[in-house]
Amino acid sequence: MKIAILKERRAHERRVAITPEVVKKFVSKGAEVVVEATAGIASRIPDEAFEQAGAIIAADIETTLRGADILLKVQRPLLAGEGDVDELAHLQPGCTLVSQLSPYNAPESLRGYERAGVTALAMEFVPRITRAQTMDVLSSQANLAGYRAVLEAAFEYERAMPMMMTAAGTIAPAKVMVLGAGVAGLQAIATARRLGAVVCGTDVRPAAKEQVESLGAKFVMVDSAEMASAETAGGYAKEMSDEFKQRQAELVAATLAKQDIAICTALIPGKPAPTLITAAMVAQMRPGSIIVDMAVEQGGNCELSRSGEVVDADGVSIIGYQNMPARIAADASALYARNLYAFLEPHIQAEDRALKFNWDDEIIAATLMTRDGQIVHPQFLDTGE
Ligand code: NAD
Repeated sequence: MKIAILKERRAHERRVAITPEVVKKFVSKGAEVVVEATAGIASRIPDEAFEQAGAIIAADIETTLRGADILLKVQRPLLAGEGDVDELAHLQPGCTLVSQLSPYNAPESLRGYERAGVTALAMEFVPRITRAQTMDVLSSQANLAGYRAVLEAAFEYERAMPMMMTAAGTIAPAKVMVLGAGVAGLQAIATARRLGAVVCGTDVRPAAKEQVESLGAKFVMVDSAEMASAETAGGYAKEMSDEFKQRQAELVAATLAKQDIAICTALIPGKPAPTLITAAMVAQMRPGSIIVDMAVEQGGNCELSRSGEVVDADGVSIIGYQNMPARIAADASALYARNLYAFLEPHIQAEDRALKFNWDDEIIAATLMTRDGQIVHPQFLDTGE
């Protein structure tokens, strides 16, 4: 069983799909692990560290992928026209691709996996069930991203986060509002609290109230019966009614005007991110305030944020960095690689040391996009040719 790992070539990507720790685990299961040269450099992993762990370093894509049974990636392979190289063209039929695949954003890539004759599994589709927690890449990456977002804000903020009592007088603590209290938002709340800020959080899901309060932050939300049905069976948020949105906007506006920093993390799966901070609300914030819009790649929670830019709106900095997990690449790679190992390990057969999926496993069924070159995921069946 040959497992290949390519260097990530997409813009803003610094992570890698394997670490020396996980190389050792796969090697102990009888796998041959081949890593493309310099794949780990941006995550602070030199080629020698991979070699010491038992991996083979290959000079280029072709050598890395030759005869590979499994390809592990962070982001889906480049297709022809998407970059300097067509990574998918080097995959051999019958190979298994395990990666985040963004099938909603890139349905054409599913046709690419069909043509290439590969079996493709999308890690972001791992169900949020207890058994799959160790494989949950959305959580592992969002957790680190929420932490990093607060550090980005603290770095841009030209004031101190904690209260400081000095001989020259007292500095007031920063006031931080976190919009969206899922995995990223709760970590942002915890991180801002650790830095000494006074923190409040908001979310449409009623379960978030207790979680926000347990971290020592104030929960801010309109009192509405609609919240009781704001959560889907899968634990995600639904889009709210216009009346709810109006009341929420009034509350956010009133709260935000008193804040120094806003961290935006609100997302609705498969839909554009809800607009929670309007230009008028930004205008009410004092100069020097910071907004970090982690939802910027899904359209943004702030009307004024721009993907990949830091916007100056009359003294309010609106940070729209793309790919926040890649800004904390060493740890993000470490957790991502462990998630992949936890996902694959139960399907490595002891007898012949080969990967044989149990297709009836609900985690495999939920993540399986193509099988042997055929689109099989119910949500994408009409994407095929
Ligand atoms: P997400 O990234 O989809 O969304 C982030 C947050 O934004 C969510 O909390 C959502 O409710 C909130 N949001 C959406 N619209 C909003 C609006 N208009 N105003 C304010 N907030 C809004 O969510 P996530 O972080 O992936 O987590 C989703 C859920 O899954 C959470 O309940 C989380 O606790 C749960 N979860 C469960 C497990 C598990 O049991 N294995 C693992 C991870 C997450």
